Amino acid sequence: MKLTVVGCSGSFPSAESACSSYLVEADGFRLLLDMGNGALGELQRHCGLYDLDAIFLSHLHADHCIDMCAYFVARYYRHEGGRCAPLPVYGPEGTEHRLTTAYADTPSASSMSEVFDFHTVKPSTFEIGPFTVHTERVRHPVEAYGIRVEHGGKSLTYSGDTGVTEALDELARDTDLFLCEAAFTHGKESIPDLHLNGREAGETAARAGARRLVLTHIPPWTDPQVNLRHAREVFPGPVELAVPRHTYEI
Ligand SMILES: [Zn+2]
Ligand SMILES: [Zn+2]
Repeated sequence: MKLTVVGCSGSFPSAESACSSYLVEADGFRLLLDMGNGALGELQRHCGLYDLDAIFLSHLHADHCIDMCAYFVARYYRHEGGRCAPLPVYGPEGTEHRLTTAYADTPSASSMSEVFDFHTVKPSTFEIGPFTVHTERVRHPVEAYGIRVEHGGKSLTYSGDTGVTEALDELARDTDLFLCEAAFTHGKESIPDLHLNGREAGETAARAGARRLVLTHIPPWTDPQVNLRHAREVFPGPVELAVPRHTYEI
């Protein structure tokens, strides 16, 4: 599997990075995890506008899904070749309605489903192209999922947005690469069931036995080096910060 960080800024974009979006590729199949603010532009550095094979949305906060409205334009009004065929989109209950409402004036109430084939995510195990994926509910103010993507005996686990939860410990069990949010700073922000801090991300990775930890979703107002240090204090394996355009072979 190849993972590319398309965008990793938490909550709102920074000057350097779009919001959450990660491209996962294997066997020529391209699965995009989340499409937050600014992600559609960045994505075009890594693949053609119409080269995605499936999209997974961890939850429906704008910083994880709002560029789907822009992508709707690109697929619905495609200049050459006509309207795009429906692309599989996996998201929480209400994803189509959420995106239609955010767009505000789609030609009809069902226009989104002409170019996106919506599938409702529940905690389960299923196939997306060549990947076996496991989804689990995580702790966030809205219905939110973490996802584990497996291929060729390797695994990638993405936390989405979450507070501390055993569900994430299990999802990331022995995972090869754990892409975990660390939006908060230990000792500074503490709101249950919202976000992890760097220390909690490290503790989660340690409990799960993850092989490698990549911290992501750090907002522009937070010092990432502090969160990185806190994670390293509690997780014995390699820890690094997600960087836009960085790729990992898993
Ligand atoms: Zn977020
Ligand atoms: Zn969120």
